[in-house]
Amino acid sequence: MEIVLAKHAGFCMGVRRAVETTMGLVDHGRGPIATFGPLIHNPQVLQMLERQGVRVLREIPQQLAGIVVIRAHGVPPEQKAQLEASGATVEDATCPRVMKVQAIIDRYRKEGCATVIIGDRDHAEVTGLMGYAGDTCQVISSLAEAEALELAGPYIIVSQTTQDEAMFERISARILERFPRGRLFNTICDSTHKRQEEVREMCRAVEALIVVGGKNSANTKRLAEIAEGLGVPVFLVETAAELDQAILRRFARVGVTAGASTPTWIIEQVVDLLGSL
Ligand code: SF4
Repeated sequence: MEIVLAKHAGFCMGVRRAVETTMGLVDHGRGPIATFGPLIHNPQVLQMLERQGVRVLREIPQQLAGIVVIRAHGVPPEQKAQLEASGATVEDATCPRVMKVQAIIDRYRKEGCATVIIGDRDHAEVTGLMGYAGDTCQVISSLAEAEALELAGPYIIVSQTTQDEAMFERISARILERFPRGRLFNTICDSTHKRQEEVREMCRAVEALIVVGGKNSANTKRLAEIAEGLGVPVFLVETAAELDQAILRRFARVGVTAGASTPTWIIEQVVDLLGSL
């Protein structure tokens, strides 16, 4: 079997930074350490952090000792203020690209613009962005929702950083057609863009695609959806142990890519196992 490994598989800059920040705190013995929410969407990395004594905070307590890390997705400004008020030392590992979207929203909200976020309203990054946008924020995740949208006055459109580019273009074009007073900011991060483009290219050259990543990772699922949309058989796995070897043996050329929160060691295990088939 020939294996084609994507150049942009695995940790993106923001995830790497968040994991390195947390591991740096562990290495310097600066505990107790907690992350506010799971640091990244990868169960194997989370188990590794747990073994190092890093706790996951689901809610903000009144009082907190030690260090709390804000993950790459960021948080609404009120939550950051509450974390600081709890007495803990706050290490903000919000990805700089997410901070840029937060800054755009903040600036235009102050100028009286409403915000439309194209993204998944249940995703932590979008929750954080909504906190910057205030009451006039609307989250749109489909063309049907764009048709039902109501807007009055000036507004901006931004994107969740991991949105599918083609979907973002279709939805934003329709919103601007209906409400021409908007200003568009394509805030999809390059890392996502390159990873998705590479999947589209790979799908032309392979018989099947393996996407490695957490089952609850939105950007991982999106890679699988893109390949599915192009008619290529896709296998989404968290680890090499989930590979169906009997089925995979039928393919002569298989592509491998991975979501932004998949560590290199898991990608290598997948490639090694495929290589042994
Ligand atoms: S996908 Fe992009 S925006 Fe999101 S954490 Fe990674 S580098 Fe940052």
